Amino acid sequence: KKKIAIMTSGGDSPGMNGVVRACVRMAIHMGCDAYCIYEGYEGLVRGGDLIRKMEWHDVRGWLSEGGTLIGTARCMAFFERAGRLAAARNLISQGIDALIICGGDGSLTGADRFRAEWPSLIEELQASGEFTAETLEHYKHLNIVGLVGSIDNDLSGTDATIGCYSALARICHAVDLIEATASSHSRAFVIEVMGRHCGWLALMAGVATGADFIFIPEKPREDNWREEMCGIVDHHRKLGKRKTIVIIAEGALDRQGNKITPDMIRDLLADKNGLGLDTRITTLGHVQRGGTAVAYDRMLATLQGVEAVKAVLDATPETPTCVIAITENKIVRKPLMQAVQDTKKVARAIERQDFDEAMSLRDAEFSE
Ligand code: ADP
Repeated sequence: KKKIAIMTSGGDSPGMNGVVRACVRMAIHMGCDAYCIYEGYEGLVRGGDLIRKMEWHDVRGWLSEGGTLIGTARCMAFFERAGRLAAARNLISQGIDALIICGGDGSLTGADRFRAEWPSLIEELQASGEFTAETLEHYKHLNIVGLVGSIDNDLSGTDATIGCYSALARICHAVDLIEATASSHSRAFVIEVMGRHCGWLALMAGVATGADFIFIPEKPREDNWREEMCGIVDHHRKLGKRKTIVIIAEGALDRQGNKITPDMIRDLLADKNGLGLDTRITTLGHVQRGGTAVAYDRMLATLQGVEAVKAVLDATPETPTCVIAITENKIVRKPLMQAVQDTKKVARAIERQDFDEAMSLRDAEFSE
């Protein structure tokens, strides 16, 4: 009987509970035992009661809950071989032979590293005499499948990450609320949203709310962005618009790689020698992560969770570790490391201010 464990790791995102529910129930449906690892890699390294067997009813009502009920954590110990050895020991002690991890690119990198190192971890455990050779024979290969939980929609190779549409809905709702007061007082608002290397939330929120101007990391504005933004806002005001909304991703940069901050934009819009608008800043922060998952994320979490269990059961020692993606509305399996490497390529291009490269990588993602 296969024993499949599921964990959530890295930043939480709405829909992670839907993933856990789908994986637990699909595993049981397929005749396997289901386990949850609490507190991300921390639970894997510490073991004990952080690894728990789950029954069908244990995940009742989890589909709509925000965050992750099995906890998540950043775990320094998993960066070290000793931590990963402890993790292997805990899995084998509990008889677990497959792992499903829902997290961001960091968590998936850790997962790939764990699987790549697995044979040597097994050798070490055998050499130390902790387990017999017969026991370890069963654990020669560890099946790992990744699922992408992230509000930023920042993973290459998938059209949507689990949680991004909930965060987008939350941002749009917040902008709607702000717009009422902005219109009443004829004010301008600078709204900062999450996204360090990925402007998807800012871009889509801009489209969905009809914002006046947006800033995203991948595509900095031209050097004359100050004049451009003020010109557009002025134009909109002259057309009779009583509110101004500028959306900025937290990782927004100018062409020289300098950070563009909400304060800078507020000062420009409020400049008495220019537009002189009564301007406020709203940083949405963790509100974007909170709340229940929207219908799309519940659907994605469920379909991808089911596919993850199928992928675990199909895997052979030769199959490369896969991540479950959605491309053109189809749930598909993709090589995990390729997706992580492509994601890192975009971040690195932004860091070295090669914005043409960053944009062409993003374009390639969506025209695959
Ligand atoms: P996210 O998954 O949201 O990108 P992090 O980058 O913080 O979040 O990664 C979550 C956890 O994954 C880390 O705290 C660490 O335990 C593990 N991890 C990340 N990168 C690696 C790595 N290169 N090797 C081993 N473990 C890693």
